[in-house]
Amino acid sequence: MSQIQQQYQDNINTIIQKIKEADAIIVGGASGMSTANGHDFYNHSKYWIDNFSEFEKNYGIRGNFEALYYKYKTSEERWAYLSKHCTLMFDTPPGQTYMDLHKLIKDKNYFIITTNQDMQFSKLFSEEKICLPQGDAHWLQCAKPCHDKVYPAEDIVRNMATSAKDTRVPTELIPRCPMCGGEMEPWIRSFVFLEGEFWEDGLNKYRTFLAENSNKKVVFIELGVGPMTPNIIKYPFTQMAYNWPNAFLVRINKGEDTTPDYLINKTITMDADIAQVLSDLASHM
Ligand SMILES: [Zn+2]
Repeated sequence: MSQIQQQYQDNINTIIQKIKEADAIIVGGASGMSTANGHDFYNHSKYWIDNFSEFEKNYGIRGNFEALYYKYKTSEERWAYLSKHCTLMFDTPPGQTYMDLHKLIKDKNYFIITTNQDMQFSKLFSEEKICLPQGDAHWLQCAKPCHDKVYPAEDIVRNMATSAKDTRVPTELIPRCPMCGGEMEPWIRSFVFLEGEFWEDGLNKYRTFLAENSNKKVVFIELGVGPMTPNIIKYPFTQMAYNWPNAFLVRINKGEDTTPDYLINKTITMDADIAQVLSDLASHM
């Protein structure tokens, strides 16, 4: 075994030991968890090419990120994209990284915070144990928003996606706000994102879990967190791992920076393939 392989194996063994001893596990999951399964929503990926070639042909857009912010001439065209994307997210089974994580922590006292909006965590973990600060496409809100409520999206988006023709949905299927009659909007981070009671409730559950466990043996597991929104997972996890007496931080991400010196005895950082690491960890359970 080479030195690098030995180091990798030592890290896996230490993480398993820490998880077994932990009173609480706090997971921070981001896009790297999904891209590892081929669910790449941001680039000109296989997922895009397989499902959205019509949109590329009609508008020249080359990925879901562009598609989400593209200025469609009509709402019928915009909803053709949104409804198809949302329906695919409902239909996509949970990826292997999520199944391995589930195997790893399902019998522990855990909580998850995720910036992902692709519903993958919700397919395996209880909604009571997930905080969604960036929203999630399970829900719709008023686009103004004129009132504080989110609505289940599934039947509405499926109906639109099934009825779409040549990147347009029938006008009468576009979801309308029951209060003001304006258009609805997927409940995902945007300029009109509704940070109301539902959003606050998720954050409160997360804060309560943190408060209950701050003096216990806690393992933070940070998975696939990139540089886009460090203030949601990365910075708070670093701070809590540093300040809490019995906390340990596991950070797994391809291209991850090395650990800062002040955390050296309280963290393992793995610049590695997240799918491989989770698979190796899950095989110990
Ligand atoms: Zn409204």
